[in-house]
Amino acid sequence: MSHSSVLGYAAKAAGQLLEPFTYEPPKLGEHDVQVSITHCGVCYTDIQGIDDHYGIVAYPFVPGHEIVGTVSALGRAVSGLKEGDRVGIGWQGRSCMKCEWCLQGEEQLCQDIDNCGTWKPYGGFSSSVVVDYRFAYLLPAAMSSEVAAVLMCAGISVYTPLRTYAARGSQKVGVIGVGGLGHLAIQFAHALGCEVTAISSSPEKKEQSLKFGADHFIIAEDQASMRQVRLSFDLLLYTSHGKSDWTSLLYSLKSNGRLVIIGFSDVPVAFDPLELVVHQMSITGSFIGNRVAMKEMLSFAQAQGIAPEIELMPMSQANDAIRRVRENKARYRIVLVNDLDIF
Ligand SMILES: [Zn+2]
Ligand SMILES: [Zn+2]
Repeated sequence: MSHSSVLGYAAKAAGQLLEPFTYEPPKLGEHDVQVSITHCGVCYTDIQGIDDHYGIVAYPFVPGHEIVGTVSALGRAVSGLKEGDRVGIGWQGRSCMKCEWCLQGEEQLCQDIDNCGTWKPYGGFSSSVVVDYRFAYLLPAAMSSEVAAVLMCAGISVYTPLRTYAARGSQKVGVIGVGGLGHLAIQFAHALGCEVTAISSSPEKKEQSLKFGADHFIIAEDQASMRQVRLSFDLLLYTSHGKSDWTSLLYSLKSNGRLVIIGFSDVPVAFDPLELVVHQMSITGSFIGNRVAMKEMLSFAQAQGIAPEIELMPMSQANDAIRRVRENKARYRIVLVNDLDIF
């Protein structure tokens, strides 16, 4: 292969295993940077991408959007970054910069969001990636690259709704699901001064949830415990991918309380709306975060010592990593370390 070509791992069709895939690097636009990848986290969204869950994926599909690496080439309009800078990149690698949402600084709501993903044309399970420099974030020097990688998607996805709805602190927050997103949500909510309850289907996650900063732990299927928290949470963060009893979750919200759905979960089509109406509850979606929140999240995590639990695996074992995530065995996030130079 020529020295300018890029080696990544791609699914050739929906649901397939990844295979080594060599491609020419995308042309560098004037606002683009090329980043040589050292680390890339494995997010559940990558797997939904491989499976074309969203119907927007083109194959060959190179997943990966929790990226850390060093800037290796810069377009002529890039400012504030230089070759060799260590940066983090999340799900969003660009935006139109001119729609009403981009102009308001809410780039994650860009009207062209289908084309804003870092994995377009090719993502981070690769030796390099090209993104708009405005979505490549300088990292705190003391933060390890694997920690930063996970914060780029899981971190910002839980930080944004907490900052928006629980920034006043001393609020009662319930985190549903203690996985890649949930274990970070517990840490951020605790650091923001909230009283945190972890709600999980796995009793074995109790000890670790308390270690992450949860004040209480409840088994989601335990009807008696769920009844005890009736009308008690200001905010529920729904981070699980499994099915849940939404009626009993809504019963645990306080009046004017809010349930925020993070990630693309299987949500039941029907639940009892009685409580929702009489207690003026809200159900809200939350998607990653804007660029201002990303910078704020990185310094907050560094200052508060927030760090995901990570299993490191070589990128050449990406299929094994994906299998572990599919089987819900990752504790709590897998980060791939680039070893592709051996090819
Ligand atoms: Zn993600
Ligand atoms: Zn836009």
